[in-house]
Amino acid sequence: MNRKMLIAGNWKMHKTPDETEEFITAFVARYQERPGTDVLIIPPFTSLDRAGRLLVGTEITLGAQDLYYEEEGAYTGEIAPHMLRACGCTYALVGHSERRALFNEDDAVVNRKLRATINAGLTALLCVGETLTEHRAGKVEKRIIAELTRDLAGVTHDDMAHVVIAYEPIWAIGTGETATPEEAQATIKLIRGWVATAYNDQTAAAVQILYGGSVKPGNAAALLGQPDIDGALVGGASLDPESFIQIADASLDR
Ligand code: PEP
Repeated sequence: MNRKMLIAGNWKMHKTPDETEEFITAFVARYQERPGTDVLIIPPFTSLDRAGRLLVGTEITLGAQDLYYEEEGAYTGEIAPHMLRACGCTYALVGHSERRALFNEDDAVVNRKLRATINAGLTALLCVGETLTEHRAGKVEKRIIAELTRDLAGVTHDDMAHVVIAYEPIWAIGTGETATPEEAQATIKLIRGWVATAYNDQTAAAVQILYGGSVKPGNAAALLGQPDIDGALVGGASLDPESFIQIADASLDR
């Protein structure tokens, strides 16, 4: 199966609406779209409406960094999935390690958010990954399988068409450390194997699995050249249009 590549830029808490416009204008002017690669930008909530309007007529897709699992009501500060769709989003990040660690999101919350994302017609970009302690103790597989099992509970075969998984070793996020291409490939292959067991071979062959953790123009080609790595979730290096273009250009035409 020829899976498409997905290059996603998670801007975290960076860029105002005006800065978002500046980025998109520069990116769209320079980036040459390719049929085998999708580009996704994930700005903060306050930039989504502006970004959605600017991206109309391009192939670049838009995602949110988080959402709430209820549709509406007395949930001060929260954003419902359908509100994101109304801004032009087709994706939402779910279970990013910063949300898990800094905002106490456990797997039960991640699972509710993931199912709400799919039910609203969005694609969930589910992040999983181990801590440095788990990595050193050889507990990568245990941690990842525990997260996948809990986060995807109740998610059907059909739903899996609306799930992208990102393997993000927590020790590699924002640190400048990356998993080696071989390490990332091995863990992503393990994730694909888990999907085959939990669902079936067809679902495993179709699901896009990305690597995230200090992806930069200099290491992107080696990571994206691995057979099971279907793209990158990029934080810091997605804030500059030039470096984000270089990473997208390193993706393969499979
Ligand atoms: C991320 O935010 O998901 C991420 C991988 O960040 P960075 O590329 O900065 O490590």
